[in-house]
Amino acid sequence: MNLTDTSKIAIFKSSRIVFPDAVLPAILIVLRGKIERIYRYEDEDEAHRILKDYTAPVEDFGSLVLMPGVIDSHVHVNEPGRTTWEGFETATHAAAAGGVTTIVDMPLNSIPPTTTVENLKVKVKIATGKTSVDVGFWGGVVPGNKDDLEGLVNAGVVGFKCFMCPSGVGEFPYVHEGDIKLALGELKRLQSLLAFHAEYEKEEFSQPGDPSLYSTFLNSRPPSMEYNAIKIATSLCKSFHSRCHIVHLSASDSLELVREAKKNGAPLTVETCNHYLNIVAEEIPQGATEYKCTPPIRGKSNQDKLWGAVKEGLLDMVVSDHSPCPENIKTPGNFMTAWGGIASLQFDLSLLWTGARQRNFTLMEVSRLLSANPAKVVGLDKIKGTIKEGIDADFVAWNPEDTFVVERAHIHHKNKLTPYEGKKLFGVVVATIVRGQYVYNKGQFADKPKGKLLLRKEFLENIE
Ligand SMILES: [Zn+2]
Repeated sequence: MNLTDTSKIAIFKSSRIVFPDAVLPAILIVLRGKIERIYRYEDEDEAHRILKDYTAPVEDFGSLVLMPGVIDSHVHVNEPGRTTWEGFETATHAAAAGGVTTIVDMPLNSIPPTTTVENLKVKVKIATGKTSVDVGFWGGVVPGNKDDLEGLVNAGVVGFKCFMCPSGVGEFPYVHEGDIKLALGELKRLQSLLAFHAEYEKEEFSQPGDPSLYSTFLNSRPPSMEYNAIKIATSLCKSFHSRCHIVHLSASDSLELVREAKKNGAPLTVETCNHYLNIVAEEIPQGATEYKCTPPIRGKSNQDKLWGAVKEGLLDMVVSDHSPCPENIKTPGNFMTAWGGIASLQFDLSLLWTGARQRNFTLMEVSRLLSANPAKVVGLDKIKGTIKEGIDADFVAWNPEDTFVVERAHIHHKNKLTPYEGKKLFGVVVATIVRGQYVYNKGQFADKPKGKLLLRKEFLENIE
């Protein structure tokens, strides 16, 4: 389908545009992919007067909410190497269908992992020309790759991820405190960010019990694993005073550590995921391994505390940790052997909104959690994440009052297995716009992929 070509000048209008401080009727003039001018208007007469100076057609969304596109900084694309799990084409299609205009690819699960510049080049060659939305990249910190970090920073990675326990894949080993200290010293010098998968296996937890019961798996990864890891991460963040980020916090016990570190001025940010906010352990059916992820989904009272921390701003942002795999690797019926990862990238906005609206969150708060704050954490806030002049025209147009049921036929992830199948969600995405151009509009994708790779120009130009 030939969607409207809005590559040069485009005009977007809605009576509900989400700005950082208000939701207002406004007209956005977009020139060459960036917001050139914002007009707020009182009534249709005024809108008409503003628009008569322009000849370009107006994309009028009526009362649909127009918000900055979602920035999901925690996505495992898995290509190359585990391309049967997910890939750039399918992941970014799913993103486009869900109002996500930028994803940031995690350094692991692909083979090779993004731990050297050469490996990043392999990934870039594969991703080029295939992405429907913009894609950034995390690098990885593994034992012994300190000298690779500078090259990756110069190539434009948003930061680095490390594991404090086995990652689940052999080619991405975890680091000990000594390795982390080496990396943090280097990343402080390079002014980059270190993100922690914060689970720490100090004790051996016995795993007796029926592997088809979720509680068996849950008991094998107690909150203390997260607490102990976050304690190390926050204390290193304080002593190095170098930017650190905790990915997918799930155990509410750890929140006191985050509060204390932030109060003392540590340059720390923390994310949680939609599955921790939407699902509770008590409701996970026997054998339903599509609910397995690490750290695990915990109980109802834990979830209430996470929502409290999101409201308070202690948790800065909400992401998917989209990490799918083929259904057989999910070993239905056995939580202990199943791959730990949940597929949900396409539903980022609807999942957060479904829970947030019940708890009286505003659209501005939701937008901050999904766009402005992630943009800041991964250093994209100068070009993305809010609606203001000079910023990329990345938008999602959606209806927060409308609902839909998650059905396989509408899922664009490569593997359709997801714990949300059959669930009714609030928030229907109507259109997704990347740098002023439609990438998705009323069920149709753009003819050609319009996403770009968010790496340094000089690096991209030098890849043969
Ligand atoms: Zn992850």
